[in-house]
Amino acid sequence: MADAGVSRAPIWTELDRRLPGRVRRDAPLGALTTWRVGGPAAAIVQVETAADLEVVAATVPPDVERLVLGRGSNLLVADAGFEGVVIVLGSAFGTVEVGDRSVTAGGATALPVLARQCAASGRAGLGFYVGIPGSVGGAVRMNAGGHGRETVEVITAATVADLDQDGSARRWTVAELGLGYRTSALGPGQVVLDATFAVTPVPADATEELRAELREIVQWRSEHQPGGANAGSVFRNPSGDAAARLIDEVCGLRGMRRGGAAVSEKHANFIQADEGATAADVRGLIDAVRDTVAERTGIRLDVEVHCVGFED
Ligand SMILES: Cc1cc2nc3c(=O)[nH]c(=O)nc-3n(C[C@H](O)[C@H](O)[C@H](O)COP(=O)(O)OP(=O)(O)OC[C@H]3O[C@@H](n4cnc5c(N)ncnc54)[C@H](O)[C@@H]3O)c2cc1C
Repeated sequence: MADAGVSRAPIWTELDRRLPGRVRRDAPLGALTTWRVGGPAAAIVQVETAADLEVVAATVPPDVERLVLGRGSNLLVADAGFEGVVIVLGSAFGTVEVGDRSVTAGGATALPVLARQCAASGRAGLGFYVGIPGSVGGAVRMNAGGHGRETVEVITAATVADLDQDGSARRWTVAELGLGYRTSALGPGQVVLDATFAVTPVPADATEELRAELREIVQWRSEHQPGGANAGSVFRNPSGDAAARLIDEVCGLRGMRRGGAAVSEKHANFIQADEGATAADVRGLIDAVRDTVAERTGIRLDVEVHCVGFED
């Protein structure tokens, strides 16, 4: 049941009155994630301006759970769905402005699009984003990274609207963002509207090298990571080790299954959801892998993906 009951209906009605045509009730949510499992959200609101978030903050009481949805590439939604309000950034937040040594991208911008636009404009530094299927907002919240680089090394500031306050936006410094290993100081009530990154201009005849870097990264990904429905690495790597090594080489869990969910044969830190899989299958497998690794190695893996709508 995605809605906590009729008691929240007046909130959604009021939100719809203030943001006409932008609120969908009991709307599919799990289907918007890359795992493609999980139930509906009580309400999904699409915002088109920073001021819309002030309306959301003023209309939705603080006891209603919030979730900002990016591209859903790091999210597991429970089969029962999510009882709160989901905020989706509309197309107005998908712009990329390329300066000489900095690039500002809207929170909804897809990371591969950002990487490609930078390369096409002769700006180096954000190529690693081409292989990460998230949004700029999701990358800031998760401090996304790969191929030896992560967001904290390239970001210089972000505009964040705070739904835990009045929904108004201000610039956050890198120190305030508190970026750590696949984590940040941002919570469910903070919405990244845009982020600014440092880039390095290259001479016009060197842009082909930037494009070649992107091709190499994409090829490396297709050789080393599975396609299909997954959410990338499920567990954070423990200090000095790799979660995939513990899961596969130490515990032999490659291919382990729960219903329609399986530990990927190609990359043991990925969990695949087959056609017909449920969120309970995925969650059950995450728990089983974590418990087995803990029993056999004494190391309790941290879950990197964000789980929403589950009891715990
Ligand atoms: C095939 C595959 C490969 C991947 N490889 C990598 C990798 O190499 N490195 C890596 O770091 N990650 C990787 N990921 C995980 C994922 O792409 C990143 O974590 C990405 O940053 C998530 O962005 P998103 O927009 O999809 O966020 P979502 O999954 O939509 O949300 C993730 C979290 O970010 C929050 N969030 C989303 N948008 C905003 C916003 N605008 N403001 C505030 N909070 C927001 C959500 O509320 C949620 O808590 C991979 C995923 C897949 C499927």
